[in-house]
Amino acid sequence: MKSVNEIEQLVSENNQLAKHAIHVHKFGGSSLASVECIERVVNIIKNHCKLNDFVVVSANGKTTDALVNIYQQALDASAELDASIHGLQLAQQLLINTLLKSHSKQLITLLEQDIELLKAWVVNTPTDDKNIEKNEANILALGELWSARLLSAILSERVCPSYFVDARDFLVVNNDQDCVVDDSLSQQQFSVLLQNEKLAVVTGFIAKNAAGDNCTLGRNGSDYSATIVASLVGALHVTLWTDVDGIYSADPRIVPLARKLNRLPNGVARELGRLGNPVLHAKTLQPLENHSAHLHIASSFDPNTSGTEVGRFGQIAKSELSVTYLNDLIIAKSVSLTGSYGEQAIKQFSAICSDINAGFIVITQNRQKALSQWLASHDTEVSFTPVSIIAIVGHEVAKHGDVKAQFKRALKNYQTMHIVSSTNEHSLIAVLPHSCTGETVNNVHHDMTKDARHIGVVIAGVGNIGERFLEMLPAQMERIPALENVHLVGLVSSKKAIISRDGIDATQAYELFQKESYAVQKRRFIIMVI
Ligand code: ADP
Ligand code: ASP
Ligand code: MG
Repeated sequence: MKSVNEIEQLVSENNQLAKHAIHVHKFGGSSLASVECIERVVNIIKNHCKLNDFVVVSANGKTTDALVNIYQQALDASAELDASIHGLQLAQQLLINTLLKSHSKQLITLLEQDIELLKAWVVNTPTDDKNIEKNEANILALGELWSARLLSAILSERVCPSYFVDARDFLVVNNDQDCVVDDSLSQQQFSVLLQNEKLAVVTGFIAKNAAGDNCTLGRNGSDYSATIVASLVGALHVTLWTDVDGIYSADPRIVPLARKLNRLPNGVARELGRLGNPVLHAKTLQPLENHSAHLHIASSFDPNTSGTEVGRFGQIAKSELSVTYLNDLIIAKSVSLTGSYGEQAIKQFSAICSDINAGFIVITQNRQKALSQWLASHDTEVSFTPVSIIAIVGHEVAKHGDVKAQFKRALKNYQTMHIVSSTNEHSLIAVLPHSCTGETVNNVHHDMTKDARHIGVVIAGVGNIGERFLEMLPAQMERIPALENVHLVGLVSSKKAIISRDGIDATQAYELFQKESYAVQKRRFIIMVI
């Protein structure tokens, strides 16, 4: 641990470095949903961005949902199709005309051209699978294209020189299921597009696949786009600006009593994304694995409130639990899903959870057709049943028998088909034979987190009594269940201190104090603790 002076010096050096470090700011659809929202984003960019930073954007508000709907209406030859396209055009026109001055004419013309293209794509809907996917990807891309073009034009008019980048011009992934990035090709293509001393606004969500066709990174994929851009340009910071001020112990819109998690370990964040938490697309953490960029979730509606930091943290962050759920899943049961075939299927169909001894995997509904085809070659019987899951996510929760028992108790009034652990042991997942309702999530969250008030203890006085107290503390914490949420966070003598908001291992605390405590004045110490 460092002294306060050393910390202050480091902070000042880091601030100097940070002045030159590239920062990627991603704004989700909810942050760009209306004129007021976009004005807020422009202010955030004014206050937080430098010229060579990168802004990654999602489509405005629910534009992607509207495009998905239009595409479905085209397939169904719905009578509503023209009205839906017109509604979308009007919504974009309103944003352009209200937010832009000199650039508005140019953007309206580009919008009209895109609407003509959209009309042509929906009239000629292809019938073969490959062209259906291509056509859908072309249609869905319009949302991010419009949003990036608009924000870049606003910034150029009012804030700083800016340019817009269509990610399909540089980002190449293997296919639109795995979305593994071809780093060297993408980096090489990106470097050609970069302009110095300007702020780039990059489309999230869209890319090209290895065959050169347009594709998407899956719903909520702009989070992944942001961390991909960060890894390609060597950014040190990524902020995902959204409509909540961090990641909570459950969806705060469904569970009013959910608590904000200030610090989230990487593995836990990855597992939350994998299990469908919309704040983090499942692959968001992947590009940062070999890269030291720091990930932060913040609210564009309340930019001064501290959000959630995702990274490597100690004891306290590791003891947090959260509850998440996913509806519209399918459980597939077959003898072909046991043993090594089961393992293959888990990988190939990105199983949410599985048991290869019992022969089942749970997958998203859109993978059912592909799994059926894969199983057909094995000529065994398979059953598919609609299910949902509810999960407890936390650092290595599956290793704690008491958490599993508590989870079972919390579910005692609900029908459950299976309770399984994820392979990374960061979640316990219950498979339910019906949809998971808000009421279930609230009840399970209440039962699992009602005792989760973390209490930090600072031992003041490290003389004979303090030393003896420290000796006894680890055994007492182990022995008394009521101390489960008590964490040692500091040791102070009359002249020296160590403080760690991440928690200090009580068994090593005295040694740590001897080696790493630093001189501190009382007044300053109180400020540090607060
Ligand atoms: P964006 O438009 O910024 O991409 P999303 O709508 O994709 O934002 O994700 C943010 C939403 O995620 C929030 O409005 C919230 O309702 C939902 N959500 C679900 N689970 C959580 C959670 N554990 N913590 C915070 N938000 C959550
Ligand atoms: N616009 C896309 C979606 O709605 C991608 C994203 O928002 O991240 O899923
Ligand atoms: Mg999202």
